[in-house]
Amino acid sequence: MHKIGIDLGGTKTEGILLDEKYNTIQRKRIETHQENGYDSIVKSIISLVNELKSKTNEETSVGICTPGVINTKSGLIKNSNTQCLIEMPLKKDIENMLGYKIFMENDANCFALAESVLGSAKGYEVVFGVIVGTGVGGGIVINGTLHKGGTNIAGEWGHHTLHSNGNECYCGKHGCVETYISGPALEMRWLEITGKKEPLQSIVQDLSDEKAKQWKKEFLDNFGIGLANVIDILDPDIIILGGGVSNISFLYDEGKKAVYNKVFSDSIETPILKNSLGDSAGVFGACILSS
Ligand SMILES: [Zn+2]
Repeated sequence: MHKIGIDLGGTKTEGILLDEKYNTIQRKRIETHQENGYDSIVKSIISLVNELKSKTNEETSVGICTPGVINTKSGLIKNSNTQCLIEMPLKKDIENMLGYKIFMENDANCFALAESVLGSAKGYEVVFGVIVGTGVGGGIVINGTLHKGGTNIAGEWGHHTLHSNGNECYCGKHGCVETYISGPALEMRWLEITGKKEPLQSIVQDLSDEKAKQWKKEFLDNFGIGLANVIDILDPDIIILGGGVSNISFLYDEGKKAVYNKVFSDSIETPILKNSLGDSAGVFGACILSS
């Protein structure tokens, strides 16, 4: 069976058609027009699926990678940073329009699955896949299968509390990991400390002065505690980082050390590696959902 995977992103929607060995037959990227609302997003997904389907004569499965979590009881999307999807029955609406069943998972779970099967975590049993970008998410894969949890929030470490009286989060709580180490949170903290408004990739070019050192120390402390808490509970065989913040190279030496320092065990060796699929993890993960 051939596989269609769609990655619904905030600005771009990508579609891919793979054969049974995960070789790419066709790939297409379109703009996501959030401003046109929910119905327009649904329609553009349907036409992308139909276009990819027309490129093969084989039977196809369809998987969709979405921002946000799908509520297992109601089927509605929650916790999405693509606001127009919140409280909408996206899976059901797409299935009704296509006339057949599809698979749907959030982007962090698709990322973890793709990296486990085809990427940096290939061959590892228990994988924690982490996305640190505009938001902070995570997914757990055990022996090639997603561990979603009873309410589909397993691995969502971005909203565990680091500082109980800390930064306000859109989720309604205070001090969530996401409010400290997401890309926007790091840029905001840089602005607070230095008075300069700069994108993350230029901030990390030179971290030699005192203010920059303070910024980096806080970042590493928060990254360290956040992931150490995950290791204490899950003890994964490998952690894979994805999202824009994963491009920061010091996370793989000083960042790893900061994590190890906070873990309960004294014999910690968990590899913390960069993803190998880049932006393609979403579409590949969406395809693997049907496997
Ligand atoms: Zn939160």
